[in-house]
Amino acid sequence: MSIDIQHISKQFGSFVALDNINLSLPTGELTALLGPSGCGKTTLLRIIAGMESADKGQVLFSGNDATHLHTRDRNVGFVFQHYALFRHMTVFENVAFGLRVKPKSERPSESQIKKKVSQLLDLVQLGWLADRYPSQLSGGQRQRIALARALAVEPKVLLLDEPFGALDTKVRKELRRWLRHLHDEMHITSVFVTHDQEEALEVADKVVVLNKGKIEQIGTPDEVYSQPATPFVYQFLGNVNVFRSRVHGSWADIANHHEEGDSIAFIRPHDIEIQREASLGALQATVKFVHPIGPVVRVEIAHQSETIDVELSRERQTILNLRHGEQIWFKPRQVQVFDSVEDFV
Ligand code: ATP
Repeated sequence: MSIDIQHISKQFGSFVALDNINLSLPTGELTALLGPSGCGKTTLLRIIAGMESADKGQVLFSGNDATHLHTRDRNVGFVFQHYALFRHMTVFENVAFGLRVKPKSERPSESQIKKKVSQLLDLVQLGWLADRYPSQLSGGQRQRIALARALAVEPKVLLLDEPFGALDTKVRKELRRWLRHLHDEMHITSVFVTHDQEEALEVADKVVVLNKGKIEQIGTPDEVYSQPATPFVYQFLGNVNVFRSRVHGSWADIANHHEEGDSIAFIRPHDIEIQREASLGALQATVKFVHPIGPVVRVEIAHQSETIDVELSRERQTILNLRHGEQIWFKPRQVQVFDSVEDFV
């Protein structure tokens, strides 16, 4: 089922939570709503679910107006960050719940329920936990069971609100890969809310970057990361060095002019090259800190009054062998200059 969001606005009192949102979510795609806390992601998800009503605008499901449709008539499944499974029910009964509460005319037989729940538990690879209670599961297992429960009623749309938010980093990473594989098998139109850019870039077909109730950019993970449309997107999607300047010319001019101005230049830490020798376009700086972190080495260098973050591969550091206090030269491989800095914090 495709979803079209047209001119959706929502205020809470005088606070504008969503401001004229327009968005098309094609059938079978996994879309991430990405943005900082309070940008309106959950409100938009709740409007799609029918749990919140918009002040203006329409929601269409497969081209049909669903704006005023009750949640139970929308055919949507949910998984939330703290999805409370029923504590007094086994895993099997939790997953079977949605099938058992169907109206009598649609309710499957006991043997059909058994078959369906077993299939779903196999799908989330937790068949061996069918007889356990939620308190006997890990956080990651609970979220997979929550997903199996959401899928039991065969929703046309799956809505996930920070489903892995409460889990530790390693489990989160495993589960998002697993979710991607699951989505590739099932192709249910899915919307995934997250404030974690890495999660959005890894999981989604399409990323919608939201800020203060407005859409900053819609694109594939690669587009939003490598061609950010606004300064906000550039900064939100990764570490960045920011140079404010009036200068539009070479990057060296930018780095040397730090006055407040009407243009702003961004350079990603991994786009800066460090050299032992001077060369055309390279500037001199002093090495302040060298921190090896996993496969990369983060280096802070100081150029005039500016501290600049640089990221190197371990191999490059083995060659350079940078040490605190040394003089080096640096230049960027890629710089992005934005003219308008309105709204940039
Ligand atoms: P988070 O990641 O922190 O959950 P979010 O992007 O999902 O943030 P929303 O939950 O959509 O943000 O909230 C957007 C803004 O609207 C917030 O500033 C929030 O305080 C406000 N808000 C949300 N629901 C209500 C409500 N029922 N009454 C008043 N204000 C609300």
